[in-house]
Amino acid sequence: MTNMADDQMGPAIEAVAAACRVARSVQQDAGVRQITKDDRSPVTVADFAVQAIVAIALRDAMRDVLIVGEEHAGMLRQPEHEAVRRAVVEAVRMILPDATEDVVVDAIDACDHDGTAERFWTLDPIDGTKGFLRGQQYAIALARIEGGRVVLGVMGCPNLSADHGRPFDDPDAVGVIYAAFDGGGCRQLSADKPDGEAQPVSTLSGDTVFEPGATVRVCGSVESAHSKHTDTERVSAHLGLAVEYARLDSQCKYAVVARGQADAYLRMPTRKDYVEKIWDHAAGSIIAAEAGAVVTDVSGAPLDFGRGRRLEANRGVVCAASSAHPMIIRAIDELGIAAAV
Ligand code: AMP
Ligand code: MG
Repeated sequence: MTNMADDQMGPAIEAVAAACRVARSVQQDAGVRQITKDDRSPVTVADFAVQAIVAIALRDAMRDVLIVGEEHAGMLRQPEHEAVRRAVVEAVRMILPDATEDVVVDAIDACDHDGTAERFWTLDPIDGTKGFLRGQQYAIALARIEGGRVVLGVMGCPNLSADHGRPFDDPDAVGVIYAAFDGGGCRQLSADKPDGEAQPVSTLSGDTVFEPGATVRVCGSVESAHSKHTDTERVSAHLGLAVEYARLDSQCKYAVVARGQADAYLRMPTRKDYVEKIWDHAAGSIIAAEAGAVVTDVSGAPLDFGRGRRLEANRGVVCAASSAHPMIIRAIDELGIAAAV
């Protein structure tokens, strides 16, 4: 690893590992406090606390840190959300015992970069909040973007087991962290020992031949509003393949492809007007790509992280082992799915 990557990777892994501990502890609380955002999606104490912890950790470790974070503290500042605000500060104090309410709320709001700088970070503090609330999979996803490309990604998956045999809906007691940087490969760490031994991660299935009648292992969203599952079925039927479909929340799906447990993660657009957010894909995409997968949108174009807070140039996502990616893109094209979005 180069020194440059080390200078950023070390603090990024440390911040994500601390955030995993806090998220796990909040998830184990009976009745996680939450607020419903304007778009009707939920935000919890863990989303706010993790955003504060990671922002403070990065700013303490390096200079000139710009962060595009998913959350804002606007609602948290309102008097009716005082109980949530207090719970957030209490959660942050697990890691930063002296943190005051002002420091915490300001740290959340400081993650308001618009994604137009040459170099910045992007953070989804709790990706898959619905999975988090169901006690299932979620991810803490942190990535660095330079010149419109992801150059470093760290993703904490507190409920994902290192054991591929374990069902996704059975939360693990330890969890895993994936880390990758441009040209440096992908590795897996134990979430409770992030400075312990790293395991190299690879899709390994790069030379699998998918002949008609074979089975393709695909993963996708739990939420039907986030991916059009009928289009996934159309793609596998078009290829003459049987599909073994696993549904799990969050960018953990990229890790599942990275570690060779699935051949593909398909995110098939459900609406013409939905544009993917950079924090939903930055960390996961470099983790999968550095493990040997190919990551594009449904038309086969690379994801362009140089367009601000959203992936304005892309629609949907196809992340697949190198052996599976070309045939999936071809099937999507032949079915006219990409042209329809
Ligand atoms: P997943 O856990 O893979 O289903 O993805 C969760 C993410 O989906 C959330 O963080 C949202 O930002 C994002 N999301 C919300 N609405 C949509 C939509 N209509 N299509 C795709 N993604 C969405
Ligand atoms: Mg998200």
